[in-house]
Amino acid sequence: MDYPFLSEEHRMIVDVVRRFVREDLMPLEKSVLEREATGLGLTMRPEDEEAVNRKSKALGLWGLDVPESSGGSELPADTMIAIHTELWKTIVPYKTLPDAPNLAMMLQACTPYQLHKYAEPVGRGELLSFIAISEPGAGGDPSSMHTTAHRDGDDYVLNGRKIWISRVFNADFGLVLASTNREAGRGGISAFIVETNTPGFQIVRKIPMIAGQYTSELVFDNCRVPAANLLGQEGQGFALMQHRLSLRRLEIGAWCLGFSHRALNMMIDHVGQRKTFGVLLSERQAIQWWIADATMQMHAFKLMLFDAANRIKQGERLRSELSMIKVYATEMAWNIVDHAMQSFGAMGMTKELPLQAMANRIRLFRVLEGPSEVHRMLIARNRIREGQIP
Ligand SMILES: Cc1cc2nc3c(=O)[nH]c(=O)nc-3n(C[C@H](O)[C@H](O)[C@H](O)COP(=O)(O)OP(=O)(O)OC[C@H]3O[C@@H](n4cnc5c(N)ncnc54)[C@H](O)[C@@H]3O)c2cc1C
Repeated sequence: MDYPFLSEEHRMIVDVVRRFVREDLMPLEKSVLEREATGLGLTMRPEDEEAVNRKSKALGLWGLDVPESSGGSELPADTMIAIHTELWKTIVPYKTLPDAPNLAMMLQACTPYQLHKYAEPVGRGELLSFIAISEPGAGGDPSSMHTTAHRDGDDYVLNGRKIWISRVFNADFGLVLASTNREAGRGGISAFIVETNTPGFQIVRKIPMIAGQYTSELVFDNCRVPAANLLGQEGQGFALMQHRLSLRRLEIGAWCLGFSHRALNMMIDHVGQRKTFGVLLSERQAIQWWIADATMQMHAFKLMLFDAANRIKQGERLRSELSMIKVYATEMAWNIVDHAMQSFGAMGMTKELPLQAMANRIRLFRVLEGPSEVHRMLIARNRIREGQIP
């Protein structure tokens, strides 16, 4: 995939990533698939993960979107999207560090103390964080959350339950959303930095998900958090969270584009070799239409994704566009990977090919960070409020 709209310098960084994927990640795919097939999740062997992290650090692939003031490269959104697209041409679960959306959420509002204690170490990859928004009774509609935080002297006391929370097990702290004013709805939601060793914070369940992933259920039982760990102002949590979700939606778009690219290439390769009833699959119209549709959709989506990334780079805050990206990307990738699996017949149903792992991950993307139906609702609401397209 080419990225003609990036500067030459940034295209060179993307080339480094492309080579890293080809030379360091792709060779690990077989062992990752074998581990997943034996119940170890979609994970690398610890020694492989260490080697990959060492190599990526040596190549300068850390802190890519961290602000320069915090020691990062501060690459713009469009370059980061190209990098994510390249990294997601394989199912090897290499994570760019730090987790940029959580860091971006903190950097919007953190105090000098929070910057020094939490944000900067996250930027350097020394601390890991999770975000806890969803609850058993409030998922797609976080404004109805029940977890509360009330001020008591120099602390806030958190009570409630969170569910489906990713990346908790190795985390040092979480960004936890709780209501400080139930009457104010989303305007009463605040964000707290909660260290995982805080008394009253418990991981009560590890939940196996499809695609070899795990999430957790958390309980906050009179969990005392210093008032200094309130991120931003009381009631500002929802707005801070929206910015974080926006960045993740853009990333999910790139991840789906990367998977679609890989699946389409696998399909093209396979149908050019496999004959049924004496004819190559590539000569069948049914298959050609899958390839034509995938090519058109990926082209349209790439323009959509980089338009949004470019506008974010110029400082615009987007809403509907990111919902469109989330819905379009996940549905496009779901169809392309499904057609690729179908074209491989029984081989497409095995755990030896990466296609099933891609399909399961994309299936998760259609729910996490807001289900498609909620995004369609938001797109329609915004369109109706803004009126006819001029
Ligand atoms: C793998 C994974 C990782 C996750 N990680 C995190 C995390 O780290 N932190 C976190 O806070 N949360 C996380 N989540 C939770 C995720 O954000 C929620 O699952 C999601 O927002 C949906 O909430 P819900 O599961 O309660 O579904 P519900 O809100 O109960 O919705 C169920 C279904 O109802 C339909 N629906 C809902 N609303 C509407 C509507 N308005 N119109 C039409 N149909 C509708 C949709 O089909 C939806 O899928 C994760 C989820 C998954 C699957």
